[in-house]
Amino acid sequence: MTEGIEKYEVIIGLETHIQLNTNTKIFCSCKADSWDDEPNTNICPVCSGLPGVLPVLNQAVVEKAVLLSHAMDADIPPVSFFDRKNYFYPDLPKGYQITQYDLSVGKGGGIDIPLEDGRVRHVRIHKLHVEEDAGKTRNERNRRLIDFNRCGVPLIEMVTEPDLRSPEEAAQYVIRLRQLVRWLGISEGDMEKGHLRADANVSIRPVGADYLNPKTEIKNLNTIDGLRTAVKAEVERQIAEMEAGGKIEQWTLSWDEQKGELKKMRSKETEADYRYFREPDLLPVVMDDVWRESILLDYPELPLERRARFMETYQLPVYDADVLTAERPLSDYFEAAVKAYGGEPKKISNWVMNDVMRMLNEQSLQPGELKLTPAYLAEIQSLLDARTINGTTAKKVMELVMERGQSPRRIVEAEGLGAVSDEGAIRAICERVVAANPAEVENYKNKPTLMGWFVGQVMRESRGKADAKTAQEILTQLLG
Ligand code: ZN
Ligand code: MN
Repeated sequence: MTEGIEKYEVIIGLETHIQLNTNTKIFCSCKADSWDDEPNTNICPVCSGLPGVLPVLNQAVVEKAVLLSHAMDADIPPVSFFDRKNYFYPDLPKGYQITQYDLSVGKGGGIDIPLEDGRVRHVRIHKLHVEEDAGKTRNERNRRLIDFNRCGVPLIEMVTEPDLRSPEEAAQYVIRLRQLVRWLGISEGDMEKGHLRADANVSIRPVGADYLNPKTEIKNLNTIDGLRTAVKAEVERQIAEMEAGGKIEQWTLSWDEQKGELKKMRSKETEADYRYFREPDLLPVVMDDVWRESILLDYPELPLERRARFMETYQLPVYDADVLTAERPLSDYFEAAVKAYGGEPKKISNWVMNDVMRMLNEQSLQPGELKLTPAYLAEIQSLLDARTINGTTAKKVMELVMERGQSPRRIVEAEGLGAVSDEGAIRAICERVVAANPAEVENYKNKPTLMGWFVGQVMRESRGKADAKTAQEILTQLLG
């Protein structure tokens, strides 16, 4: 890290664009998701900006924005408006973008981001609005190709206040935002597909100062790693500049993910350049109580709230709580299993974080599709608690439940998988093993580590069903 770092405080604000997962675009009935489609196949006169057409607002876009606003603890004003942001760009065929300027769907609010050292960073939201996306431009040899499929795809733009204090905090903000939009079901949040894109405003100032220095804006941060690396590089550049007696200019930079470097793009437009004015072709959005309440009717417990509750109610370590609240379906699965079980939640947590998550990955299933239902998982743990089966058998039972979708208890009975915990039966096996292996018995006198081998033989003879601890106790007596 550059020298002089400890003299400076890092100030970061993030602007994110979230692509909503509506069926249709924001102002027409074209399909919104064109990921697998040929260029220019999901377009119509409205979204390709032909003269004389009128936009019609997709109600679902506003509803999804209300969900996010509510999660951000933002005010949801009774009336909001659409505005035109005028600029020329080849992939913006109308010559303006329909967006929201001063009176948007959400106002104010913020989110508490948990940091890795246990502290919490409160990030205030400066602005939350809906708008349409532009198309995509692709440079190919000496040609410039434009795909209008993305024109009119609904976005939420959310801008934070400059409240983040390190590249890692910025990364954590985006990680939590992605978790939240998926949890709310408003976006797939797939960064590789551009569903969540971030621009970072970065400046530094001497520690203790309360003014803000000029900032630079980094565009095109489309991965978490890219965000972290680009912001760190820019912070180091600014510190080196200041240390050398230079000054920071208000540049717009672009992050080249492939090369891992920042490029200077252009000098920044000011807001006046966009000549915002009210969109005359759309009515104001009137958010009355009835509509707002219907949107918030099934409002879920949020991931960070649930994370805190899992630690509090179930005494889970923070690591478990994070893993088990990363995605809502898995989180619901875990909680259903804990309730069915009624014993120590950590035992269920271990199963879910290891075996259940592995099965989900291997078979590309959603938790709701597993034949190993939460109730069956609970039953396996109860069978273990009662020592009806041992740990090895539990895994085997789990596989069989996954194949057959039958209750673990029934499988244990049908397959005769019940553990041999009867001391007499285990003793008989131990005696057979000792009698059959005189050479190892002799060796054991000088090599006590052979005990593991003997226990292994007993487990094999019992087809994995013997209680290993009982076996070891008996063998110790027999081998003297
Ligand atoms: Zn269209
Ligand atoms: Mn925008």
